[in-house]
Order: sequence, then C-alpha cells, then structure tokens
Amino acid sequence: MASDETYDLVVVGCGAAGLSTAVSFAETAKAEGHEARIAVLERSTEEERGASTRWTTAGMRVDRDFVMDPGWVGQMQEDSQGLADLEYCLAYEREVPATGKFLQEHGVEFIFRDRPISSSRLTMSASPNGGGLAIIDALAGHLAQHPGAQIIYETEAVSLVLSDEGRVEGVRVRDRDGLMRTLRAPSVMLACGGFEGNYEMLTHYLGKNAVDLKKLVPGTRFNTGDGIRMAQAIGAATSGQFDRAHTEAIDVRTDRPDAVISAHNFCIVVDADGKRFYDEGAKDLLDSFELVAFDIWEKANNTAFYITDDAVLSHELLSSRFDTDVPPAKADTIRDLAAQLGLDADALEQTVNEFNAACNDADWDPSRYDGKSTTGITPPKSNWANPINHPPYYGIPVAAAICFTYGGLKTDTLSRVVSTGGFPIPGLYAAGEISGITYHSYPALTTVLRACTFGRIAGAHAAVQMQEAVTVR
Ligand SMILES: Cc1cc2nc3c(=O)[nH]c(=O)nc-3n(C[C@H](O)[C@H](O)[C@H](O)COP(=O)(O)OP(=O)(O)OC[C@H]3O[C@@H](n4cnc5c(N)ncnc54)[C@H](O)[C@@H]3O)c2cc1C
Repeated sequence: MASDETYDLVVVGCGAAGLSTAVSFAETAKAEGHEARIAVLERSTEEERGASTRWTTAGMRVDRDFVMDPGWVGQMQEDSQGLADLEYCLAYEREVPATGKFLQEHGVEFIFRDRPISSSRLTMSASPNGGGLAIIDALAGHLAQHPGAQIIYETEAVSLVLSDEGRVEGVRVRDRDGLMRTLRAPSVMLACGGFEGNYEMLTHYLGKNAVDLKKLVPGTRFNTGDGIRMAQAIGAATSGQFDRAHTEAIDVRTDRPDAVISAHNFCIVVDADGKRFYDEGAKDLLDSFELVAFDIWEKANNTAFYITDDAVLSHELLSSRFDTDVPPAKADTIRDLAAQLGLDADALEQTVNEFNAACNDADWDPSRYDGKSTTGITPPKSNWANPINHPPYYGIPVAAAICFTYGGLKTDTLSRVVSTGGFPIPGLYAAGEISGITYHSYPALTTVLRACTFGRIAGAHAAVQMQEAVTVR
C-alpha cells in the first residue's frame, strides 16, 4: 500500500535544472554535516530522462572563462521591449562563471568555439562535450554518491501540498500504476519544463492550428506544463510571453529528430503559393532561426519552401546548412523545381524573376552582413540577396517544429516562485524552462545555462534554509 514519504527536498524533473538543484542541495547540506534526503521525480523511464536537456547540444554564450556574452542583457531588454525582468537577467549574468565552475567541477567537459559564422554578435560560444546529455549523466552520477538521494522514475507530480498558512509542504504524485501518494518536504523545486508537449495548452495559448506544430525532438513530449498549472493553482504569478514559443524550421520529409534546416539567410523563403513573405536577410542565423520558423507557422500556414541555387549549395561555408538525410529537390529550371515541390510553376518563376531583378550590385559575402539587398519588392531581402540564377536549383519543404514555450512561472533571483502579489511562496522554487523570462524573441544559447544557474542557486538556498530551521529548533 502506498504511504507518505518524507524528504528534505523534492525536485520535479530530471533535466539540467532539476539535477543542478538536487546536487547543489546535497552538497550544501553535506558541507553542514547533513546527509540530505532528496527525491527527484521523473515521469519518463531512466533511458529517456531529461526531456529537452537530453536532446540539446546545449550551446552557451560564454567565453573560455565562462563569462557571459556582454551583450546578452541588453539584447534581452531590446528583444523583449523592456519586458524581461532586468534584475533577474543581471543576476543570471553575474552567476554564470560560478555555474561554469560548478559544471566543470562535476566532470562536464566543454568545447569552446571562436566567432561562429552564424552570428555577428558572438565572439565565443561553448557547449558540453556530449551536449545536454553529458550534463545529465555527470550530475546524476554525483547525486548517486549521496545515499539519501534518489531519482524516482515513471512517477509524475500532480499537485502541490500546501499547509494552512500557505507553505508548500510536498507534492502529490502518481506512479505508473496510476496510484497516488504524497511526498512531503519543506522545499519543492519545479523543474519540469514548459508546455511544449501539451497540445491543449498550446492551442489555448498559441491559438488555432497549434496541433500542426511538430515536435522538434521526441523528448519534449514529457513537458506538459504541469508545474505551471500546479503553481498557478496555489496563486503563483506567471512571466514570459504565453502566445509565443521557440520554434525551428525543419525538413518535413524526414522523421529524423532535430532536422533543422539553417539556410534561410541564403535562400528565398516562399509559401504554398510560391510567394515570399519573410525578409531572409534581416538578421543572421542565430538572431533569426526562430523568427523565420514562427513566421512560417503564423503567416504561411506552416508550409514553406527554401529555394536556392548552386552558388549557395556548393559554397564551402554554406553547404552544411542544408544538412538533412534526404537530398534537396534539384532541377535545372525553376519550373521543374516547382513541379518537384508541388508548387505552381508560373508563381515560383515569377517570384524568382522579380527577386533576381531587385538585387543590387554589392558583393555577396556570406561571412558578414553584406548589404547586398533588394529594392522595390515586398518584403525586401536586406542582406545576402544574390540572384538565384546559377543552376541547378534546389528546394526543401520546411515547417515549424516546437522546441520550447516562453510562458512560465515568475521567479526571483533566488529561484523562488512568487505569488501574483509578488511575495515569494514559502518552500516553492522553479528553474529552467518553466521559469518564464522571454518575450517576442529568444536570444539563443541561454536556456541550459540558465537552468543550471538557477537550479544551483535554488539548491544552495533551500539547503541553507533547512539548516537555519534546524538551528532555530
Ligand atoms: C533540440 C534542442 C536543441 C536545443 N538547443 C539549445 C542550445 O543550444 N542552448 C540552449 O541553451 N538551449 C537549447 N535548447 C533548450 C534547452 O535544451 C532547454 O531549455 C533546457 O534543457 C531545459 O532544461 P529543464 O531542466 O528546464 O527542462 P528538461 O530538460 O526538459 O527537463 C524537464 C524534466 O521534467 C520531467 N517532467 C515533466 N513533467 C513532469 C511531471 N509532471 N512529473 C515528473 N517529471 C516531469 C521531464 O520528463 C524532464 O525530465 C534546445 C532544446 C532542444 C529540444
């Protein structure tokens, strides 16, 4: 028979945020001479643990000293039009070096890269050797060294347990048999991601046809917005833009996970009528890969085609941007390419002809914003507008796939969930994707590091709170 169990900390979710919290809590408590009792809840099996984190390369905007891209806070303010919580962003920037140390001391190795061609903003980026999975494996390995800590698989959090005075005291959970029990703890961390795996919530917030958004990777199906729902039920505030999401444009012809085509800057993007609807040269890849995908979903009924020619496909810096397991459609004429893609030949030919005639004479240079733009057509192409007249011609059908949602819980700089009135809810923390900060556009390469940073902060804070409570008693 299921009975109640008591812990010092319950963590919901076994991704970057959840494991950073658990390890940080265990180690802070241990330093004070206490072997912490921790339950990390994971609704998947062990083999699939860590929904998003498991699938990401976990790119990060840091240099070799783990100093955050100095432009990030400003970009957050600019992109969010002032809506992103500045105090939170500054705390994140400040804490990043300590998170780098934390991850490296726990065995995560990093690969550092000099200025990527995909971005004019960044001079450096980094990612763990082995991606997000390396973070999960390293931190779970360390957690296993603490005898009081356990990861409980195939068990999902359903609701929060609240004391009469409003303190979070535990979590009601359901196991694979469908039976429920209560895990009691003075601190609960919600680290169970956004609602990208919940089409009811996606439809509610993103609007009609959200069911047409494919999943970028299978792991995100586990993130069904439960933590947001549970916390809202006890009066938590929300933050981040609920009617936007981070989407990416994938090749629709393959079932391969993460089949992103990163080529729009060097193509024209047309809809099912063969017409352009997006300025492909407005921003470089890192600053626009989600914008083009969201426009494909929102403005083109999630059906679009990247059209280009051999000058691009045979370019040594660009061919990898068409990386997919199905070769692009290829033809010697635009009309034949249209036929292969199921597009109206007259319409596509007209679009290409108008585009070619509108390109200026500036030099084409894929390595920088080159000012080679169009005049007289709408929308314009603001950079890299090279006439498409070097056969063979190529095309790939693309659609937006959802990666993660922007809307989440409002948290403070200690990762505490705050109420709609702005007061921290005693005993409740949230970190990672579930904690919403993004509006209008997501400055990429920042969510895994944010998950680890605020998980680490929350774990240490909750452990200190626990010690202080013991001392007072
Ligand atoms: C393909 C891909 C590429 C990406 N690339 C990058 C990148 O380069 N850089 C970057 O910073 N970010 C990137 N991201 C985003 C990033 O991976 C995520 O934002 C981040 O990993 C989220 O971590 P998390 O711990 O908050 O959530 P997750 O890692 O998603 O963990 C949430 C966990 O909670 C569990 N869970 C959910 N609901 C429940 C419940 N009710 N009960 C129990 N368990 C539950 C899930 O099973 C999962 O294990 C990428 C994402 C994807 C999918």
